[in-house]
Amino acid sequence: MANARLGAMQDWTMRVTAVIDHAAREAGEREIVTRWADGSITRTNWAGIRKDACKMAQALQRLGLRPGDKVASLAMNHSRHLVSWYGVAGMGGVLHTVNPRLFDDQLDYIVNHAEDRVLCYDAAFQPIVDRMKDRWPTVEHYICYDSGDHAPAFEDWIGSEDGDFEWVTGPENDPCMICYTSGTTGNPKGVQYEHRSTVLHAMAGLQPAAFNFSSASVMLPVVPMFHAASWGLPYAGAMAGIKFVFSAVNDPAVLHDLMIGEGVTDSAGVPTVWLAHFQYCDANGLDLPPLKAATIGGSAAPKFMIERLLKNGTRVQHAWGMTETSPIGTVGGPTWDWDSLSLEEKVEKTAMQGRPIFGVQLRTVDLADMTTELPRDGKTSGALQIRGPWIIKRYFKAEADAVGNDGWFDTGDVGIIHPDGTLQLTDRTKDVIKSGGEWISSVELENAACGHPGVAEAACIGIFHPKWDERPVLFVVKKAGAEVTSEDILEHLKPQIAKWWMPDAVEFVDDIPHTATGKISKKDLRERFRDYALG
Ligand code: AMP
Repeated sequence: MANARLGAMQDWTMRVTAVIDHAAREAGEREIVTRWADGSITRTNWAGIRKDACKMAQALQRLGLRPGDKVASLAMNHSRHLVSWYGVAGMGGVLHTVNPRLFDDQLDYIVNHAEDRVLCYDAAFQPIVDRMKDRWPTVEHYICYDSGDHAPAFEDWIGSEDGDFEWVTGPENDPCMICYTSGTTGNPKGVQYEHRSTVLHAMAGLQPAAFNFSSASVMLPVVPMFHAASWGLPYAGAMAGIKFVFSAVNDPAVLHDLMIGEGVTDSAGVPTVWLAHFQYCDANGLDLPPLKAATIGGSAAPKFMIERLLKNGTRVQHAWGMTETSPIGTVGGPTWDWDSLSLEEKVEKTAMQGRPIFGVQLRTVDLADMTTELPRDGKTSGALQIRGPWIIKRYFKAEADAVGNDGWFDTGDVGIIHPDGTLQLTDRTKDVIKSGGEWISSVELENAACGHPGVAEAACIGIFHPKWDERPVLFVVKKAGAEVTSEDILEHLKPQIAKWWMPDAVEFVDDIPHTATGKISKKDLRERFRDYALG
């Protein structure tokens, strides 16, 4: 009898366990290095990670966990955290990577909302556990990734298992990880990644137009495993069999030594991480590490940062995405005409957010009606929308879909799409400054201000103005020891921006508030300057 199916290829369920199986089989010896908080260094490899993941899956089953159950991690980047990514998924569970920088009320909300049954944590976060334990009734078991003073130690806990384990199987649309976003107002929202979406996202992340991984890559991801799945690196890296170097602390001195000592070729982090690294090198008279590639995302990469890295011989992969997009949406790297560009042109190009990788589609729509699609003309800005197989459809436990009938997810970002597909992000919908009926990009003003040598950080918000509705005010943190006046800053901005974009005031502040993921918190800045009035 003829087979009803027309195609004749094999069925292959896309589960993340296949990723670690591949890494263990094809790159089993490739090292996974961890520098722990106490300064010690341990080394394992992909085969060791898989073995420990099998043991963890057994240990979880022994605790009575079933497929679909949630296991939380409250941890920095290290090999035991990596084991948990695969171990939890391998027993059919869902790993909830908790951001330790969240406020107590948010920590309370997300662990209860996810109904986490087990929580694995770093000893450094013992105070959080002590504080929150009574507020987390669903958590039945605590495991400490380090010592076992207050809870069973991870190594002992999995150490009593033999690792002889068959991965739990199931549909590829099963969830394997959940991350909560906290950038928005109201309660954090859970984004559940599926096995399938995760595998597809990681395959797309590998390619030359994105992370550009090969088996020779040595990656030190500074982006935390608790932030948007560390940009998918632990999966993409396993697929390519790269060497990973993890640091459980984000001290630039430690990162610098690891980069040099371990032959790191690739790193990834938000702009503040790179900034801290620059400052460390400058203060100590050191060169930047000889990285081949630096991925910068989470916030716009300032031009001076891109320029310095390019001059260092480091390829800059400026990426845009969000927790809801797994997170890669676009990545910028050298374009086909790269070699013919001047340094200035390269910097200009890289300061945009790159192009969509295969698997996602982008469009911009009119901010006023949120439906009229705008031209990809390199000048018209609008609300940025995205769709694809690793883009959110519905938040965890939400009643309604997070996308419109046509499947587009509204990102809350404002951007311009260029004719070659390059995305240029200009703002967040809620941060864009409306002056006299026209839009001013707060982000562009910040980026321009950051190019001044005396500026460490800058943030721009709209302040009420009786005539213009809102006018931009720039808040600036000076670099240590820098002598700079507001006139200097305005003078510096003048050639870079339209006249009517000029901030009405420049205020110097000691610090600028940040969110739990290290981004400037405009919400908190607005709150702090609630009573600020333009003179
Ligand atoms: P999160 O879900 O916490 O990762 O935040 C996602 C948001 O970060 C996006 O919606 C953007 O507003 C912002 N973002 C991410 N990458 C970039 C980038 N390369 N440039 C500017 N903003 C970015």
